[in-house]
Amino acid sequence: MNAFENALEQLDRALSHMNIDPNVSEQLKHPKREIWVSIPVKMDDGSVKVFQGYRVQYNDARGPTKGGIRFHPNVDINEVRALASWMTWKNAVVNIPYGGAKGGVIVNPKELSQSELERLSRGYIDAIFDFVGPELDIPAPDVYTNPQIMAWMMDEYSKLAGKNTFGFITGKPVELGGSQGRGTATAKGAFYTIEESRKLLGLEKPTVSIQGFGNAGYYLAVYLHEAGYKVVGISDSKGSIYNPDGLDPVEVMEHKKKTGSVVDYPGATTDKDPKATLYYDVDIVVPAALESQITKENADKVKAKYVAEVANGPVTPEADEILNEKGIFLTPDILTNAGGVTVSYFEWVQNNYGYYWTEEEVFEKLEKIMKQSFYDVLEIKDSKKVDMRTAAYILAVGRVAKAMELRGWK
Ligand code: NAD
Repeated sequence: MNAFENALEQLDRALSHMNIDPNVSEQLKHPKREIWVSIPVKMDDGSVKVFQGYRVQYNDARGPTKGGIRFHPNVDINEVRALASWMTWKNAVVNIPYGGAKGGVIVNPKELSQSELERLSRGYIDAIFDFVGPELDIPAPDVYTNPQIMAWMMDEYSKLAGKNTFGFITGKPVELGGSQGRGTATAKGAFYTIEESRKLLGLEKPTVSIQGFGNAGYYLAVYLHEAGYKVVGISDSKGSIYNPDGLDPVEVMEHKKKTGSVVDYPGATTDKDPKATLYYDVDIVVPAALESQITKENADKVKAKYVAEVANGPVTPEADEILNEKGIFLTPDILTNAGGVTVSYFEWVQNNYGYYWTEEEVFEKLEKIMKQSFYDVLEIKDSKKVDMRTAAYILAVGRVAKAMELRGWK
């Protein structure tokens, strides 16, 4: 099954517990709009290379669509559709006034120079300009895109619009209207969710392993380490490392910066399989890399008591069933990693206001939203006797469907 088929299966599971007008639920299974673009980029050697890009705007019943832009060689339309649908549900779970979207460009940004990357980023905005904007569709960073890329994209949009439009995109540098705390918001939000889950499960000083050591995985490792969790496993695209006595994430990052990877970190055992982190004997496993990492083929190998989905879509629906049968508690992506988009929403609000908050204010507001959402989902889990993912979907799909009905979309 591709990622979008997985997303539809998750939606179907939630719909089977709900009483939604079939005219509405039918619409929930289709992206509202898809934009396919070719992006010609002048390379440093003078040749022109054409990149394929997408933007999928899944549903805008609750407000302008919102979701990141991914630069990755394996991007495909079904992945972008899936990610756009998950953004729709995520924004509804945390009850921020947005629909969902996602963008992607098929490219390995590591093979581009900085100036080629800048031209590609600007070219993507030129190609989708007519369909995006602060009241239409608001992009943000995702895998292999970053604040610098957001700055170029904001600048390109502003040039085309003929005015400074900071609210067009989020995840910008703070010097250009970015929010305090945005860089670490996904990890911070995940930390709040994991803390509530830890208390619920009665885990004391739990052991953790984390797959993916980028923006989300690294900062989460730091927060967990600081809070007394023992981070024993870490991986990146080159492999996994394990030390039962615990790893200091800051030192592991130093090693990664020097050598290009976490592998061969002194004092830890290295396994060249990046998925090995998922199988370590720990209390909590955190997939924080890419989708479809825990599948029906390997779900049985997961030994943790709790899986916290920080990546989008890391567990397939078949694997969900296996984890459920094993009694493993799971907080779904659309809840666990919603801190990023929540602070993106704060960024957009601050841009619209022209009035900026301190990091303390940002995290205080974020903590409130994450905890409220966790307990909203938990209540549905208990009352409907479903797993946390289905509960989160029931909450989200209910909110989106209600907005559609009120707008008369049936
Ligand atoms: P990133 O580009 O900063 O880091 C990705 C990390 O994953 C890198 O360390 C890379 O080496 C590693 N990786 C890549 N392929 C891997 C593999 N096969 N096995 C193990 N590790 C691998 O990306 P990010 O922003 O940290 O995003 C990670 C995940 O979190 C994605 O699924 C993304 O959609 C999700 N997410 C991110 C944010 C955010 O604000 N950054 C918000 C919500 C969700």
